[in-house]
Amino acid sequence: MTASPRHLLVSERFRTIQGEGRSVGMPAVFLRLGGCNLRCAWCDTKYTWDWSQYDRAKETSKQTIEDVARGVASEGPGRLVVTGGEPMLQQNGLVALAAALEALGAARTWEVETAGTIAPTPAMRRVVAQWNVSPKLSGSGNDPERAVRPDVLRAFAALDHAWFKFVVGDEDEADEAMALAAAHGVRADRVLLMPQATDAEAYRARAPAVVDWALSRGVGFSPRAHVAIWGGRRGV
Ligand code: SF4
Repeated sequence: MTASPRHLLVSERFRTIQGEGRSVGMPAVFLRLGGCNLRCAWCDTKYTWDWSQYDRAKETSKQTIEDVARGVASEGPGRLVVTGGEPMLQQNGLVALAAALEALGAARTWEVETAGTIAPTPAMRRVVAQWNVSPKLSGSGNDPERAVRPDVLRAFAALDHAWFKFVVGDEDEADEAMALAAAHGVRADRVLLMPQATDAEAYRARAPAVVDWALSRGVGFSPRAHVAIWGGRRGV
């Protein structure tokens, strides 16, 4: 039997609202983990993984599961949104975190933000109330074989509580998102299109077109409240 992990590689933790997806606007504690297995050109959290630009020792810290649990509990009630980076790289540690939170009497409703390249274990599936899966399209600049894992996408598509957010920069990407969803069994009523933007000005310029693309394809639109309200600021 594999020993339960004792640490998580943490980037940051803060209390805010969920800015994207189905539960946008809900109060939440964000726990951002370090490390990612993809390399999106427009990534707005490169400080979690791009050690050619950022100092890993300054940007991340290896924390015991118990310390992470105490930190999350200290932020008060609300959802726990685990993000990254790619938090699924540390899913066994997250299962241990759920147990530690429960032991503190601080169990949370969990959301996990993931690019959908790593399938959840049965234990992880029991922890998470809502999956926010954001498969990366060709415009992300990733190697398609790394970014699109058909077996994993199908596994998420089969979960009742998985939503798919696609970051789109143009209408071709909206079509690519729809094709990707259809090819992997993702129901249209679980698809949200979200504008690609890392600052408020770009967001405002692109969002109306993305709403039109979503409506004409019978899928939803996801705002990016953090970008609209705070631009590219960290920790909000
Ligand atoms: S998957 Fe997410 S964290 Fe990783 S590079 Fe892409 S946008 Fe950044």
